[in-house]
Amino acid sequence: MKLAILDRDGVINLDSADYIKSAEEWLPLPGSIEAMARLSRAGYTVVVATNQSGLGRGFFDLDDLEAMHAKMANLVEAAGGTVDGIFYCPHTPEDNCRCRKPAPGLLDAIAESFEIDLNGVPVVGDSLRDLKAGLARGCRPLLVRTGKGQTTAKQLAESEQFRDIPVFPDLAAAVDFLLTGKARCS
Ligand SMILES: [Mg+2]
Ligand SMILES: [Zn+2]
Repeated sequence: MKLAILDRDGVINLDSADYIKSAEEWLPLPGSIEAMARLSRAGYTVVVATNQSGLGRGFFDLDDLEAMHAKMANLVEAAGGTVDGIFYCPHTPEDNCRCRKPAPGLLDAIAESFEIDLNGVPVVGDSLRDLKAGLARGCRPLLVRTGKGQTTAKQLAESEQFRDIPVFPDLAAAVDFLLTGKARCS
């Protein structure tokens, strides 16, 4: 089984400092839906792992989150793919939970749910915490420059530890790389 784990905000959809609070506010980034569908059609199990502290902060409720995720899943289906799982952390940083990235709890839940070893599984994110969660479980981190990715790319370049993590313009380019092994330069 081939699995890919994607962050949501700033990777699949436009991020906002004011949080994404409704399906109406949930707007896909250019090419991201088609990229997810391509991954899916290529035989990948496509799973989303996302921090949603807006839930814990009371900015939106579970119905709103489910409506956002139904919108995402429907768009991917219309493009010929499937979203196989959506794992979210509803907590705030103050909750000190084990699932808010960079903690690897969401990844552990994915590993358990799909009964798969996460070693080498690609994790695509726009923030260092996405990549750190992946690295904590032996995953293969990929950064995109969308969302917070430009800032994160600078952090990677300045870091001894993360300098070798590949950086892509967007999810479509990261998926091209996963499916062909060839990178478009970013
Ligand atoms: Mg993000
Ligand atoms: Zn959590």
